[in-house]
Amino acid sequence: MSPRLGGSFPSVNFSENLNLIRQRIAAACVRVGRAEHSVTLLAVSKSHPPESICALVDAGQIFFGENKIQEAKAKIPLCPSKARWQFIGHLQSNKVRDAVELFEMIQGVDSLAIAKEISKRAEQTAKTMPILIEVNVAGEGSKFGYAPEKLLAELNELNALPRIEIHGLMAIPPYAPIAEKARPYFQKLRGLKTDCENLLGAPLPQLSMGMSGDFDVAIEEGATIVRVGTALFGERFSAVRRAED
Ligand SMILES: *Cc1c(COP(=O)(O)O)cnc(C)c1O
Repeated sequence: MSPRLGGSFPSVNFSENLNLIRQRIAAACVRVGRAEHSVTLLAVSKSHPPESICALVDAGQIFFGENKIQEAKAKIPLCPSKARWQFIGHLQSNKVRDAVELFEMIQGVDSLAIAKEISKRAEQTAKTMPILIEVNVAGEGSKFGYAPEKLLAELNELNALPRIEIHGLMAIPPYAPIAEKARPYFQKLRGLKTDCENLLGAPLPQLSMGMSGDFDVAIEEGATIVRVGTALFGERFSAVRRAED
């Protein structure tokens, strides 16, 4: 057992939630003939306390995602060292240095300027930073992410930066109460990954897509990383959620 760091949350059974999600991942893989280990479950722990993260680590979860640098900086040192961290939010240039220190992967890179800053900061700490490029698959004005055409236009320049490694693409499709509605966006992201691979002449291993409501469909469409928060941890406090989502 990891140390408990505060009040308990008896209403959430973390290991049961984790098992159910793993079963859904396995079932989705079987449906499309994929190996279960081809999908990484990223537990999105934003707004949840270290003790919940401890409970999930105890249950066998390894990868966690955070979307706020301040929160991650305070929280990560209080969590088990076995936990591995990926950044999944929108990054501002003044937070890049912290992000490079705290995280082993930065998802959500959405401009050449940020990619350059990541490369520069990584160089200063003698690191190479794996990144995923965020794509605005539905062209929503309210969302971050590259427009597909712009990504294809800038891809070679991104790829030439010395201290980043492009591992693939990520997207947050428009919210829909029916998971099936997200399928065309997942297909679009997969198609764009193929276009990028053709342009680069090299494979991109990762497709980060699918959240609590639709990760099964995302896996059927080729997701290699699913980012699951609510289905693992329960609801986030609504005030926090409004500020973040
Ligand atoms: C919050 C968040 C998630 C998890 O969303 P849930 O619906 O709670 O599973 C996934 N990806 C990103 C980028 C997020 O910000």
